[in-house]
Amino acid sequence: MSDPLHILHSVFGYEYFRAPQQEVIDTLMAGGDALVLMPTGGGKSLCFQIPAIARAGTGVVVSPLIALMQDQVAALKQAGVRAAYLNSSLTGTEARDIENRLLRGDLDLLYVAPERLMTERMLDLFRRIKIALFAIDEAHCVSQWGHDFRPEYIQLSVLHKRFPEVPRIALTATADEPTRREIIARLQLENARVFISSFDRPNIRYRIAQSSGGAREQLLRFIREEHNGDAGIVYCLSRKRVEEVAGSLASKGLTALPYHAGLSNEVRARNQARFINEEGVIIVATIAFGMGIDKPNVRFVAHLNLPKSVEAYYQETGRAGRDGLPADAWMIYGLQDVITLRQMLAQSEADETHKRVEQHKLDAMLGLSELTTCRRQALLAYFDEHAPEPCGNCDTCLEPPQTWDATVPAQKALSCVHRTGQRFGVTYLVEMLLGKADERMQRFGHDKLSTFGIGKDIDANTWRGIFRQLIARGLLAVDIEGHGGLHLTDACRAVLRGERRLWLRRDSKPVKTKKERAERAATRTTFSDPADQRLWEALRTRRRELAASQGVPPYVVFHDATLAEMVERCPRTRAELAHISGVGERKLDAYGEEFLYVIRAHAYSPESLAE
Ligand code: ADP
Ligand code: ZN
Repeated sequence: MSDPLHILHSVFGYEYFRAPQQEVIDTLMAGGDALVLMPTGGGKSLCFQIPAIARAGTGVVVSPLIALMQDQVAALKQAGVRAAYLNSSLTGTEARDIENRLLRGDLDLLYVAPERLMTERMLDLFRRIKIALFAIDEAHCVSQWGHDFRPEYIQLSVLHKRFPEVPRIALTATADEPTRREIIARLQLENARVFISSFDRPNIRYRIAQSSGGAREQLLRFIREEHNGDAGIVYCLSRKRVEEVAGSLASKGLTALPYHAGLSNEVRARNQARFINEEGVIIVATIAFGMGIDKPNVRFVAHLNLPKSVEAYYQETGRAGRDGLPADAWMIYGLQDVITLRQMLAQSEADETHKRVEQHKLDAMLGLSELTTCRRQALLAYFDEHAPEPCGNCDTCLEPPQTWDATVPAQKALSCVHRTGQRFGVTYLVEMLLGKADERMQRFGHDKLSTFGIGKDIDANTWRGIFRQLIARGLLAVDIEGHGGLHLTDACRAVLRGERRLWLRRDSKPVKTKKERAERAATRTTFSDPADQRLWEALRTRRRELAASQGVPPYVVFHDATLAEMVERCPRTRAELAHISGVGERKLDAYGEEFLYVIRAHAYSPESLAE
């Protein structure tokens, strides 16, 4: 079996290669090196799995996380590929067993943790066998400046020195140019062909809204109305908040589990396993959760706080919809987020250079949040990718926000800050604009100022929105002491002097009709026809049983997309089933009859006859 296209069909059950899989595979087949930059869900794995199967010998895959290895090996075995991993989760006997298989030439793919790979024992084993290729997954771990730095990755250039004739492929979903250069330099991939895919994730719908106080209620409504029964991840900033949110969702009958660094290893592992193995589990987590989660059918990622950078936002939201089916990246944030992040930055102990970088990153994130044009265009532009058209699948495209000339109210707000000595917080300033004097204001004599009560024409919420945007845009700065006092910046002078007009976003609660929601739900994995819905549920139940009996996650048996296609096309024979995307030969043998039985039983059931 040495033809890549044949392997794609017979082993993986897919019809076509996606760009640039074919070219990457051809490069390796010809013995060349490759560097592949592709977004999450783009299809990186096949780029090395297929040539590893097609070429003589074993493909050796370096992977940083045990969970990732286990997942990929389980999926490969299901497809009938001879795959195994070597890492610290194995007993001595198990590991020796795998080593023997390796020596016998009985493995197409071997996944190895980087620290084990670099041992003399391992390198010696490699000298005694035929190696098809080396694949270095999550290659950005080699970058010292990145967030996933793994010192062992630096040593991987040894592979090239010891085995110069073996082709190598490095893969990552980290897009930026400095990381790319670092990977090439550290892994000595100067001669590798570089493949860069678009980083767009068209199936993800980006939505960012202002929280109107009740973040938990907004989240609950979002899940109930759009993602009932779906798996999702909710990110919060603090452990305390994680516990609160998980508790509140659970109290409403949802399966929501917490995940943060304060929980014991056992609890974390248990919650993660449930998220992976069960369906419809929601993980509420700090950013500690995510890396190594390969679950393809995460239908939503929700942020209840602003991430610190666009990179973080993109990486976290990228965990939604790996399977290519519609998914939501949903975020709400408010004035307090903006203040907190600005304060954290002001109090940071980092040196000036680092602070400037952090400042720049935060500004970009705030800019994205307050945007009134297409979010996807801005996101891609941040990664140096030019999208010529607005996407039509983000909140600003779907419900264009209104802007208004807020120059005069902004001037009033800024004067208020100035007149009160640049030390009060938003609440005080809003009361002042509304002309609501309390005892403290009277004591300071602020009720006698000319700005007292000059903002009565605008309500308190709108004022808070104006302050949020003034802070987000850097026209007001937050005090370093952390009391939330605001002061003017140089940037606000032009507005105060009337030299610059200021257009702000009008915050509005998104209104979406029931019909629109239903239409969107229909493109997902609910079916408008109740008979289809019943078949879908029956197929999922069968999948769950088959997965549980082997101790693997359901998606390792078949993906949602594959089951959905079964519902749509209702295959009645083995041959028809073989045409469904994701049904390879091994799975056809192992599960074909099981699923055909479900489909046939459904077709002849009295319930479906009645319809
Ligand atoms: P990545 O590692 O880039 O995040 P994966 O390799 O996990 O992505 O692939 C994402 C999904 O796309 C998987 O479900 C995979 O089976 C599927 N996939 C990859 N290549 C193809 C293809 N040529 N045709 C259909 N599905 C594919
Ligand atoms: Zn858009």
